[in-house]
Amino acid sequence: MSETHEFQAEIKQLLDIVVHSLYTEKEIFVRELVSNASDALEKLRHTQITESEIFDADKALEINLTTDEKANTLTIQDYGIGMTRDELVKFLGTIAHSGSKAFLQAIKDGGAKNDNLIGQFGVGFYSAFMVAKSVKVYSRSWKADEQGHVWTSDGSGSYTVEEAADLSRGTKIVIELKDEDDCKEFAKDTKVKTILERYSAFVTFPINLNGERT
Ligand code: ADP
Ligand code: MG
Repeated sequence: MSETHEFQAEIKQLLDIVVHSLYTEKEIFVRELVSNASDALEKLRHTQITESEIFDADKALEINLTTDEKANTLTIQDYGIGMTRDELVKFLGTIAHSGSKAFLQAIKDGGAKNDNLIGQFGVGFYSAFMVAKSVKVYSRSWKADEQGHVWTSDGSGSYTVEEAADLSRGTKIVIELKDEDDCKEFAKDTKVKTILERYSAFVTFPINLNGERT
């Protein structure tokens, strides 16, 4: 069963700014999503120390990116801690994240002068909506008795959540890119490779792009 949820007012405001941003290098969304994948793997590593029962215990702690020019998509997948249904709603629908709060405050303080505030503060997950027509987040928690779910949004006022069968532990984010050239290029292997080369050295987990270690 698919449930539709409205984003919290602050998130709507944030998304509106992100979607219409002119001053920000679009490619920062790759860094944000890879860093979330890395955080999720780190959390899984900590959970492994205290919990004996972990779903999909044998999965490698790595990050996989896949580009598909035909489908116009970029996919970022991790075998990290994953999210339950309630966590998807809480973490991707409300403004718990301190960076986003600071960002909105800076917008309020500075009025319309918001050149590159997105780059300065980081808007985390929501930065994907700079390039996305739609975002699908498939996630399955490490907790054995949970179900997998898919969270879907086009970045306007609402998102949906429904059950999804046969997911591995962790999170897979499928970004369907906008048709503009400066968005479509993120479905190209060479483009994503160049971005990853710039900072993947700072990520402690292995990163694969289209099956090749970066
Ligand atoms: P931040 O990373 O600073 O907390 P984000 O906007 O980047 O803020 O992400 C919001 C929250 O969504 C994260 O704190 C985390 O709980 C959850 N999240 C995002 N991506 C993932 C992921 N790949 N795996 C598990 N949880 C995630
Ligand atoms: Mg983040």
